[in-house]
Amino acid sequence: MGRIMTETEMLLGFDKAIKEGHIFPYFQPQYNHSTGRMIGAEALMRWNDPAHGMQSPADFIPVLENYRLIRKADLFMMKTICRFLNGCIESGISPVPISFNISRHDIFSGDYVNEIEEIREHYGVPVKYLRAEITESSAIGGMELVSGVLTKLHDLGYLVEMDDFGSGYSSLNVLKDLPVDVIKLDMRFLSGDLTGRGGIIVGSMVQMAKWLGASTIAEGVETNEQADYMKSIGCNYIQGYLYSRPIPQDEFLEKLKTSSLESTKPSMKLISIMDTGKFWSPESLETLIFSNYVGAACIFSYYIDTGKVDIVRANPKYMKELGMNMTEDEVLRSDPWLEHDSESRAEMESAIKKAIETGEEVEVETWRTIRSKCCGEDHICVRSSMRLIGISDDQAMIYARARNITAEKASIRALAESEKVFRYAAEHTNSYAWEYDISTDEMRPCSRCMRDLGLPPLLKNYPEPVIESGLFPADYADMYREWHRKLKEGVGELEADIPLTADRIPFRVRYTTEFDENGRPLKAYGSAELIK
Ligand code: C2E
Ligand code: CA
Ligand code: CA
Repeated sequence: MGRIMTETEMLLGFDKAIKEGHIFPYFQPQYNHSTGRMIGAEALMRWNDPAHGMQSPADFIPVLENYRLIRKADLFMMKTICRFLNGCIESGISPVPISFNISRHDIFSGDYVNEIEEIREHYGVPVKYLRAEITESSAIGGMELVSGVLTKLHDLGYLVEMDDFGSGYSSLNVLKDLPVDVIKLDMRFLSGDLTGRGGIIVGSMVQMAKWLGASTIAEGVETNEQADYMKSIGCNYIQGYLYSRPIPQDEFLEKLKTSSLESTKPSMKLISIMDTGKFWSPESLETLIFSNYVGAACIFSYYIDTGKVDIVRANPKYMKELGMNMTEDEVLRSDPWLEHDSESRAEMESAIKKAIETGEEVEVETWRTIRSKCCGEDHICVRSSMRLIGISDDQAMIYARARNITAEKASIRALAESEKVFRYAAEHTNSYAWEYDISTDEMRPCSRCMRDLGLPPLLKNYPEPVIESGLFPADYADMYREWHRKLKEGVGELEADIPLTADRIPFRVRYTTEFDENGRPLKAYGSAELIK
């Protein structure tokens, strides 16, 4: 027992092995690592030879492929899977979708899709329980054929899975032209350390998948660290020894009966305002525009149920706009909500929801506390203009332009602050007050001036308007003009008793000047107090 069969033994024994049931599927369940529920399983071919024991698919599949026997084997697998699914449904056990493998050799001979469909219909299995898995390399050299088959399957309602994504080849170029719903990332192809370069690569593959509107399954996951890491970058679906090895049908059936199940979320529907395939390609015009010709911008996912936000792409100007010398990686890994306090988070979330509901561009200004490795902490105000670009059951994808308006905000805030003090003072001292801007000759009256004297909020070419209106008496006009010349020369204090208004009511009028750090006069604060 237990030796690898020779090619000749395989070829001679194949038909008999199928007939006598020595070739059959094992099932490897897949789980949502966040909920622990089963979401599907992959059917993997096994050949248990009575004389030589269990053969590894890695050894016999290439032989079957070389001798054009794989098609027969795969169709036999399909039959067994459909019979199993039918059995579950008949006996009231809810199954999970089963992935079956398609070899590139399957599709190079005859109409494979029709044959699959015949089997499925024969067993009355709803198409939602079947997922077609094909490896990336299958597409090499026969792109049109593969794309045709996948499109047919996809249109019939099969979920199409790209197996072993990132194992080589020009992944992205292949992917963007295929109707792929699920991308499988094999952890075994990723060299070692997920906290280093390996992690960055997987991270960007998960983002890429999202952006293409596909979900991801991590395969070959053996440790909790790997699973937790994948979850942290937005890939919740896990297949691997950590949860279960491939198991015989009976054992799988028992698992189905005792596990709680859930369905995978359908992939995102992107609103077709741009060609997303092109958008991801590093050479495309879209990427060129995103990176160079639009202002600071990012794309993020908003999870509708949990409110989680995940930045999936940010252009170089975005990093610059936030300051703090951050790298794209730092931005992508950060949790934006940690930068918001509860008030600004609420504002941001209601704007996001509005963008989702209306499909229109929505603008919002929020304060954030940015922390970066090199620069510590900074409090900034960002104006975001957001627009929905994709939506699925559980998440929305949003394009956001960002502008750092901290400086603008700071000056507005200072102004509001000074105005508040100004108004407060005026109301409580029983006097009138105003602010005279020395360089522009603009005058801003207090609210009491506006109310009692009918002044507008801003007077230009001061003091002429008040002289003209007769509020300021003509016989004092030249003296008052002279005052303003003196203020420009830098006089710090002025004071005189002046009869104001048509009734010539006596007021004590005063000016106090504010200077900048170089001693230049900026503003003069005027007041007029009734002489009792
Ligand atoms: P695959 O489609 O990438 O299948 C996943 C392989 O990874 C399986 O090997 C599975 O047993 C193994 N695996 C799963 N979890 C782990 C893990 O945590 N750690 C490690 N080290 N390995 C894990 P298996 O069953 O030996 O299949 C090998 C390959 O044979 C498959 O790779 C697939 O390319 C091919 N194959 C299997 N069944 C079929 C089939 O029905 N039809 C066709 N055409 N090819 C098949
Ligand atoms: Ca596979
Ligand atoms: Ca695989």
